[in-house]
Amino acid sequence: MNENGWNIQKANNLYRFSRWGKGFFTIGDDGNLYAAFRKDDEEVKISIVEIIQEMERQEISLPAVIRFPDILSNQVHKLCNAFKEVIDEANYSGKYCGVYPVKVNHMRRVVEEIVETGREYNFGLEVGSKAELLLAMGMNSNRNALTIINGYKDIEMLRLAILWKKLGSNSFIVLEKMSELDVVFQLAEELGVEPVLGIRAKLLSKGMGRWASSTGERGKFGLSSVEIVEIVEKLKDRGKIHWLRMLHFHVGSQIAKVQVIKDAVIEAARVYSSLYKMGVPLEYMNVGGGLGVDYLGSGVDNKSSLNYSTRNYVENIVYNLQQICELEKVPSPNIVSESGRFLTALHSLVATKVIDRVQLDYLDFHDEKQEKEHILLTNFRQNLELIDKHNYLDVYYDVITDRSEAQNAFRLGVISLEESARIDALFWQICRKIQNFERAAGLFTEELSQLNLYLSPQYICNFSVFQSIPDNWAIGQLFPVAPLTRLDECPQIYGTLADITCDSDGKLDSFIQTNYPNNSLLPLHDLRPDEDYYLGIFLTGAYQEVIGNLHNLFGRVNQVNIKFDNEGASGFYFEEIIEGTSAKSVLEEVEISEKVLQAQVKKRIDMMKADGVITPRESVKILETYTRSLRGQTYLNR
Ligand SMILES: *Cc1c(COP(=O)(O)O)cnc(C)c1O
Repeated sequence: MNENGWNIQKANNLYRFSRWGKGFFTIGDDGNLYAAFRKDDEEVKISIVEIIQEMERQEISLPAVIRFPDILSNQVHKLCNAFKEVIDEANYSGKYCGVYPVKVNHMRRVVEEIVETGREYNFGLEVGSKAELLLAMGMNSNRNALTIINGYKDIEMLRLAILWKKLGSNSFIVLEKMSELDVVFQLAEELGVEPVLGIRAKLLSKGMGRWASSTGERGKFGLSSVEIVEIVEKLKDRGKIHWLRMLHFHVGSQIAKVQVIKDAVIEAARVYSSLYKMGVPLEYMNVGGGLGVDYLGSGVDNKSSLNYSTRNYVENIVYNLQQICELEKVPSPNIVSESGRFLTALHSLVATKVIDRVQLDYLDFHDEKQEKEHILLTNFRQNLELIDKHNYLDVYYDVITDRSEAQNAFRLGVISLEESARIDALFWQICRKIQNFERAAGLFTEELSQLNLYLSPQYICNFSVFQSIPDNWAIGQLFPVAPLTRLDECPQIYGTLADITCDSDGKLDSFIQTNYPNNSLLPLHDLRPDEDYYLGIFLTGAYQEVIGNLHNLFGRVNQVNIKFDNEGASGFYFEEIIEGTSAKSVLEEVEISEKVLQAQVKKRIDMMKADGVITPRESVKILETYTRSLRGQTYLNR
């Protein structure tokens, strides 16, 4: 405990580390945040601030993605063991064969860790495009692990898929469209391969929430029952019905309600049984993705949270499949699932540094009455003098009206720019007093919530929302944000965050905390002049790294992969450092080459040199500076 009864337990409650962090993030007695996980049956801890300090020693600057491959492998074990346990308990006759949908995070290190950890479970990969298939052909090195090939496919992709089968893979081509089947017939004959097929069913059970439209009758994906029956007929006619061995469905990502999963499984189990009885030798039921992540740490049915545990999810799949198959008297299928978000979200965080604080704060401004000043200005000064704990709400309504009159008066030329500026400064001073009276009284009046927002500081952070957490901007996805240090000190400031892009959407003003006064402000510590203040944005391992874009030409951030090290004093080492994108490469993305830019700038320099504006020595220096920046990174360098 320290001043005002603060302790790290309170910090943990406020930022909800143990709730969304699932045991992977804990606060140390030193007030710093640690990553924690199991390693060879031992609990190990790594200080995130020490990682950042070591990065700084090695001149790897923030913002950076800090990645813990051990968290990934922990998640793979968790998912596979949950299925194994429930299958054993239920005496379920099929087995579990998981696959990782690579679209969730294609980073080499991520795919590698999942493939390696998954080897003992024959954990495979799922792909949905040609480039992803090329990735899987090179990286899915376990011959027993599945490759699930989803998505719209052209002839080239189907050819690759069939060749992948010829190379001895355990792969399934999941038919997404009727027309794919004819191409498969043609290529199978041409290449002399018997492919194994799945069909993606368009279920009637609707996913809820954001991805509801990926299923249902108007869904973009999958085959209707009419089309499925037609495919079965076609395969039978050609004597190839033995090719069809998997039924697949996917109700959408981040399913918030367990009931949605249950409904979909039951419906799919009925389709499965009917097809089986029609003579289709199905062996696998692929339940797709959707297993959610609790970004809010609230455990409720909300678009950023969910109302079920991993165990619940698995039970709903296994027991419902078992029950329907028993009722229908068909053998229970092997279960395939395609969980991406669940495996990857927790393993990486984005670390950033606060570089500035912006606030409407004119507390030092002192106003003196001047001769012949406008009456509006006099009113504001008097209000500032008169305000007290009894009348502050009345004063608030007064100054709101007066301020809008002052703005009109300025437009009409009645008051000068200088007077208008003085009125603004007085207005914000009055507001600050109102807020203090309100806080002293322990009240949070609804009317003043907007005022609290205006008066709160913005902490400017060195990163881009569009590159590092695009889903926050695109679909309002919330991510936990918290200081990485000083968690043993009570945070006294409530503020919002802004990034360094020149886009007013480049901000964070919605947080998982609901404590004060609503979720638009994040509890923060006051900045100290000679100390860096670090913030972490968590659960960014799923989707963000690939969806991130180059808005304002901010490129990829630095990445460090951290491994636990029981030898060294720090307890960790950098397994790999991957530098962020250079300015030169983001410019190349928009087809502007380094050479052309340099040539143009050199022309300009030569002109100025000819005019005698710059010396030959300066001209060399300028070109050098320009070139160094082109090769440097895109974020602020301090
Ligand atoms: C995106 C996708 C997934 C991954 O879903 P998560 O909810 O991230 O686990 C699985 N299967 C298919 C077909 C997908 O399109």
